[in-house]
Amino acid sequence: MGWAERIPNLTTAVRGEVIHGADALEGYRRDASHLSGRPMACVRPKDPEDLQALVRWARSTRTPLVPRGAGSSLDGESVPPDGGVVIDLSRWDGILEVDPVERLVRVQPGVVNLDLHRALRRHGLFFPPNPGSWTVCTLGGNVATNASGPRSYRYGATRAWVRGLELVLGTGERITCGRWVRKRSLGPELCGLFVGSEGTLGVFTELTLALAEAPERRVGLAVRLEEAGAIERVAHGLRSSAHSPLSSMEFLDERSTDELARLSSGRIQGGAATMLLEVESTDSEETVRLERMLAQLRELGVGTDPTVFPDADAMWTLRGRSSEALDRSVGPRVREDVAVPVARLGELFALVERLAREYQAPSYVFGHLGEGNLHPNFAIAPGSPRGEALRRELLVGALALGGTISAEHGVGAMKRGLVPAELGAVEAGLLWAWKAACDPDGILNPGKLYPNRSADGSPPSPSPSGAATGPTPPT
Ligand SMILES: Cc1cc2nc3c(=O)[nH]c(=O)nc-3n(C[C@H](O)[C@H](O)[C@H](O)COP(=O)(O)OP(=O)(O)OC[C@H]3O[C@@H](n4cnc5c(N)ncnc54)[C@H](O)[C@@H]3O)c2cc1C
Repeated sequence: MGWAERIPNLTTAVRGEVIHGADALEGYRRDASHLSGRPMACVRPKDPEDLQALVRWARSTRTPLVPRGAGSSLDGESVPPDGGVVIDLSRWDGILEVDPVERLVRVQPGVVNLDLHRALRRHGLFFPPNPGSWTVCTLGGNVATNASGPRSYRYGATRAWVRGLELVLGTGERITCGRWVRKRSLGPELCGLFVGSEGTLGVFTELTLALAEAPERRVGLAVRLEEAGAIERVAHGLRSSAHSPLSSMEFLDERSTDELARLSSGRIQGGAATMLLEVESTDSEETVRLERMLAQLRELGVGTDPTVFPDADAMWTLRGRSSEALDRSVGPRVREDVAVPVARLGELFALVERLAREYQAPSYVFGHLGEGNLHPNFAIAPGSPRGEALRRELLVGALALGGTISAEHGVGAMKRGLVPAELGAVEAGLLWAWKAACDPDGILNPGKLYPNRSADGSPPSPSPSGAATGPTPPT
């Protein structure tokens, strides 16, 4: 049966809106990567029961389902395979309950990260993970990719803040994991096994997230690093200082700074690499802490006084436009997300420079320096043989430095071939076993995260194949 003939059947199975037709589906074909797919339809389920009905229909018809929040993922995580059905969860955007005593919040998965941040201000609380995409990305997407952001330097990634999940599994069953408590010792924590699952195990219908007490003041500092090589010295000095008030330590190399400066209305100056720092304090401590930080920077050889952002949030929203700045000037490019032990950052920088030279692909590097997490961007076509060869060398190089192929963006369709190289074959097999338990028919987001099985059904061999399969790159 063709796609068009299956739509009436789908429309009967669910109560929510069913969107179909090439024009109406155009916005659901892509995420923020270079990949795309051709979905058969998009469904906006009315409620969790309706979502269960959709999953049952998909099981009976063997139709792939792809949960979607804002579609801002960078490795094809939310790109549908041809003929799949997108589940649009962006309208499930209610903040259901804030408990200032337990410091917990219950939300629907479509709440935008920054909207939660704003809503929590009056409670003196905040949800720490603040990805660069926080103006658009959803909390469901954040949990499904274990997202992080500048504040993860102090507070950790999303995983550390998930206390409870309600979800519909690929079996169609509805489950709850976690409790409305801050502590629990009841065997291995089930919730954590769904964090970072990229929509491949279940669809979140509700999230319970832990909150942190918001500092009274959060000041941003944009520090110019005019001297080549200063970066490692300054980062090391700041990291090793005891009782540091820093909650973020970000970095943009000179080229990325130049591009962001164009969008910054004079708030960031080009011509040198930049570090972005966030200092937390109470009202009364602010001046002392800032003066101490400036003195420390001078001691570390930073010659120019930083630009001060009295409200650090404005700095992070600006920093979140780094990708947009490169979209404008460089266009489609290989952009990556690797992390290495902080002590090996110098070797990672050297690897990026070597690859840029060898592939004649100018590099633009920014990222979460304090966590050893860089986003190297290369001006070379993604999906092209040379672009993918460069990507693979970078990822394999990060592994050789004791690092990871994905620090925060996820695996998606683009990096799944290298998962066994990082995890090992037995560990990749465990991932598959958990997948089989939650989604026995493999209908949830196929072609993402999991490496291909061998022909005999066994887990994949650990040798890195690096092959990108799943959604299609542009021709
Ligand atoms: C400019 C820019 C800056 C970025 N900066 C950062 C950054 O600093 N840190 C960072 O970590 N990431 C960053 N990202 C990547 C991206 O924004 C994050 O991965 C984000 O968490 C994705 O959220 P989303 O709502 O867009 O999810 P989507 O792209 O819609 O989905 C992402 C994955 O989550 C799954 N999913 C979505 N909702 C659900 C649900 N309810 N149930 C189950 N699965 C679900 C999808 O199937 C998919 O696999 C950036 C992206 C851009 C474009």
